[in-house]
Amino acid sequence: MELFNSYIKNERQKRLFQMAERLANKAQERVKSAEEMAELPAETVADFRKENFFSITLPKALGGEGLSLYELVLIQERLAAGDGATALSVGWHLGIVKELAEEQLWEPAIFDKFAKEIVEKQAVVNRIASERATGSPTRGGVPETTATRQGDHYLLSGRKIFSTMASVLDYYIVSAYVKDKEAVGSFLIKSDSPGISIDKTWDTLGMRGTGSDDVVFDQVKVDATRLVELNNQANPRKAKGWMLHVPACYLGIAIAARNEAIHFAKSFKPNSLKTSIAKVPHIQQKIGEMDLKLMQARSFMYQTAMEWDNRTPEARQELSSELAAVKTVATNIANEVVDLAMRVAGGRGLSKANRFEQLYRDVRAGLHNPPMDDMVIQILAKRALAE
Ligand SMILES: Cc1cc2nc3c(=O)[nH]c(=O)nc-3n(C[C@H](O)[C@H](O)[C@H](O)COP(=O)(O)OP(=O)(O)OC[C@H]3O[C@@H](n4cnc5c(N)ncnc54)[C@H](O)[C@@H]3O)c2cc1C
Repeated sequence: MELFNSYIKNERQKRLFQMAERLANKAQERVKSAEEMAELPAETVADFRKENFFSITLPKALGGEGLSLYELVLIQERLAAGDGATALSVGWHLGIVKELAEEQLWEPAIFDKFAKEIVEKQAVVNRIASERATGSPTRGGVPETTATRQGDHYLLSGRKIFSTMASVLDYYIVSAYVKDKEAVGSFLIKSDSPGISIDKTWDTLGMRGTGSDDVVFDQVKVDATRLVELNNQANPRKAKGWMLHVPACYLGIAIAARNEAIHFAKSFKPNSLKTSIAKVPHIQQKIGEMDLKLMQARSFMYQTAMEWDNRTPEARQELSSELAAVKTVATNIANEVVDLAMRVAGGRGLSKANRFEQLYRDVRAGLHNPPMDDMVIQILAKRALAE
């Protein structure tokens, strides 16, 4: 695809991009059934496993590809141009694994064993942290899921909402209030552990194919060594470069809408005109505006990813405001671009026979992935006022 080429800089990126393209095409074929079932199809996960996709963000020393942030953004954008729900889903896995490997958040013995399972079995993981009472965990609410110590294990009970890929995950990283530590912690739990059930609540406007159902934990017995993170540890909040998978996903959806709009404009010749609508000034205006917006958001995102890759871990911390700003800029621009594409298509953009309406529904979800816009603006204001 023309729009992507300028961001592919070498043979390795070309190879990774081509893999994303193959997987995007397969995922796109299943969008209709994924929308109907409101879950990520197991066949799509199997396709990704065949390409050893789930280990690409692990370091080479552990059997991965050592994906850079720039490369992560590149492939996420391409996947999302095929299907946004698939891209967002697998993006959580890739990003979490990248962070765990780079930040060494867990005991090495636990992480190395987990990494081995990712390489050998292509195990899939996600953090499930949202709850009805807390809403977004980024607001700092304490989980109502609790972990009670009993000898060498914990008993974990509670309910998580928005659990992306719930039914196809091998592992959940579950946040809970750990009573004996008087702190919030996270547990690594196998998804088939006794006491875990999935409540199929995911009946949403957009991103239906992420299957972000509720997961219920009823006295789930977890070995104490599986308490992998404690928030009261000397663990200052780190800048999260990997979270750029979110803006990349929504820009990919916007690119798909832009491409559909151009195709439509070139091919639609109403009998009131001698040409296609591509020659009409107000259509050209909208197409030009879409590209202007995409250029702004994408250059900001790729530039920030490149900065991240080129910096030392310490210097990366200074990028936390930029990372947050990229998310807000990209998701809002993606919504604007899809809106413009819908206007190019006119009323038939509303039809389920075309792709526009699904892209329009999916892109909307980006506003509700972290960090939320109001928090980003606050971060920028505080930084400016502290100068
Ligand atoms: C497609 C999709 C996939 C997701 N996948 C996952 C996942 O895999 N794992 C996971 O854990 N979560 C996931 N989430 C959940 C997401 O991270 C948020 O928890 C969820 O969207 C709710 O956040 P919210 O800001 O929209 O609403 P809420 O936090 O419920 O807040 C509702 C409203 O109140 C406001 N508000 C709430 N608290 C405050 C406050 N303290 N200060 C100011 N305003 C406040 C908000 O701005 C908002 O307007 C997913 C969400 C979506 C849409």
